[in-house]
Amino acid sequence: MNVCKNCQKRLRLEEDIITLDAENCELCCGLLNHINDYFNIFLNETKEIEFSKFLLGVETIDECFKRDLQTVANLCPECRNFKQEFTFQLGGRIEEVLGKKVDFKEPELTFKINQETGDYSIWIKPIYIAGRYKKMRRGIPQSPWINSAKGREGEKSISEYIGISALKLFRAKDYNFFASGREDVDALMLGNGRPFYVEISKPLIRSADLKELETSIKEYSRNGIEVIGLHLASKEEIEELKNSKYDKVYEVGISLEKEEKSIDEILDKIRNIEIEQQTPNRVLGIRKDKLRKRRIYEVNILKNEGKRLVLIIKAEAGTYIKEFITGDNGRTKPSMSEMLGVNIQIEYLNVLEVN
Ligand SMILES: [Zn+2]
Repeated sequence: MNVCKNCQKRLRLEEDIITLDAENCELCCGLLNHINDYFNIFLNETKEIEFSKFLLGVETIDECFKRDLQTVANLCPECRNFKQEFTFQLGGRIEEVLGKKVDFKEPELTFKINQETGDYSIWIKPIYIAGRYKKMRRGIPQSPWINSAKGREGEKSISEYIGISALKLFRAKDYNFFASGREDVDALMLGNGRPFYVEISKPLIRSADLKELETSIKEYSRNGIEVIGLHLASKEEIEELKNSKYDKVYEVGISLEKEEKSIDEILDKIRNIEIEQQTPNRVLGIRKDKLRKRRIYEVNILKNEGKRLVLIIKAEAGTYIKEFITGDNGRTKPSMSEMLGVNIQIEYLNVLEVN
């Protein structure tokens, strides 16, 4: 049997049953002869990457691995197979020389080798940052506003202000932005902000200062977007955020077509009522037409100047609040317009709370 020195030692083989041959080893098929090469590749490829926990993976040549397992079982059952030996030796060397730690559960970097082709790949664990954003200027869409004919329209989006700032700070390749619901382009998002997370792919830096990120988002958006409570989030927290629904409190400025004397009385009756909303006219092109039932918890008058009012409305997650006010040509029932018997125009809308 042709065997390399490494395999001889690993399986404690007596010299009289083997021939030493580093390249044509019948057990590891030469892999253990290349630990030093892969160590150098690893060193070189990870120079610019910040990580402390790593994992190694080897895709072995089937035929070699099967033969090796058989030999281990026959000659030295307590010995390591060559795949184990490879990761043991290479991993140990990386730990010793670079001061990194092998971690099977949550590696920040994974180095994979294909024995047959000699190819390798490096996977870097993404970083998730969660927090809440506030939108301080109207006209900023949540995601990029692309017109298929004219290209980009309007100003950059919330996702870009946050995502691109994060990319720069973490020296990453790509990002993915997710927020729990969205406000209209012309609405402000105030109060405690809206929950979001951003997934940062292939970050070269993991320990960036999140205070710095807060500052750069604010600067990049020229004070349009503020983020609060930024923190590194676990997969579990992200899953929870994806599935959570939040009730909202809105501030709405409206003007009535004509004054309504008993408006206090009428609005006072709106306590925990159920409304039915057919998909609004304005989004029919992009959303399926269906009926939703939602709750309006309460409506309070903040300011009353006759035909102009400022209301505070608390509504269930997923309520189309503009349509609850205007009635959307009868597609939302009941609506404030219907209850008051007047046409209502919305002057502005701010989201105050997402809870
Ligand atoms: Zn070998």
